[in-house]
Amino acid sequence: MNSKSFVAKLTARCAPVGRALLLALALSCAAGAPASAADAPAPPRPPGLAPLPKVSSPRLYVIDCGTLVYNRPEDYTLTREEVADTNMSVPCFLVIHPRGILLFDTGLSDRLVGRPLYENVDGGYGQIKFNTLRGQLADIGVTPGDITYLAISHSHWDHVGNANDYAGSTWLAQKAEIDFMFGPNADRAYVALYAALAHARKEVFDGDHDVFGDGTVILKFTPGHTAGHQSLYVKLANTGGVVISGDLYHYAAERTLHRMPKEEESTGTPRSREMIERFLKEKNAQLWIGHSTTFFRNAIKSPGWYD
Ligand SMILES: [Zn+2]
Repeated sequence: MNSKSFVAKLTARCAPVGRALLLALALSCAAGAPASAADAPAPPRPPGLAPLPKVSSPRLYVIDCGTLVYNRPEDYTLTREEVADTNMSVPCFLVIHPRGILLFDTGLSDRLVGRPLYENVDGGYGQIKFNTLRGQLADIGVTPGDITYLAISHSHWDHVGNANDYAGSTWLAQKAEIDFMFGPNADRAYVALYAALAHARKEVFDGDHDVFGDGTVILKFTPGHTAGHQSLYVKLANTGGVVISGDLYHYAAERTLHRMPKEEESTGTPRSREMIERFLKEKNAQLWIGHSTTFFRNAIKSPGWYD
């Protein structure tokens, strides 16, 4: 932190005063300030917020993070006859585990709520958002400060719309995706959506990552759609194993008809799909395709949950 921002922080904390008193006040204010963030008392929870859920085994929430209105299944090598609904749901997922909380993907930006479709068409995808992620987390009793870990399936704009709001969590990131997001080939038009993650605490890895160390919540490295794409496996006591695909698949018909976007045929996607299909069999797990409106329509939505 530079001295200018230090003074700015102190003036924000202390009452407004004249310039002559600033240094003395800064020193007295600093003397009473906590030595580090770890010593600071937990911020008061907003009034009316439900208590933070306490769990003895993982609990998984499916959160509405928007809808993409889209009508070009040909981009996924499918015909309109093969895809009943070409729109895409955009879910976020929250895992409450006895050892912490993981947010997986952050969806379309909360700033889009209430805005008309025609204002927010990106690459042919019209973005609609009815509920904020932050508000839906509050319905569960979770504030951004309660979230231990943030992970994203990948850094495309429909998955990182609110990433900056969760930069206070520890970011669980594939090295290849960080390189893609902040390297010379990053798409400058979208960096602002996740720029705060550059300064977040990070756990960086190259491959699968066991989030809580007990095998129940695992980030599965599934490169191809992007260089550091990952899917999420959650082992639930009653529901059983679930793999959240990320954009390894978009439409369910891609899986049944063995199709993929042309440009992904020469990437890691074919191998990642084979690996996940083997993993699903081995774990007797189900696959949730987040962008599938059929999946989302039938899912138990937050504040309901799977356990
Ligand atoms: Zn996507």
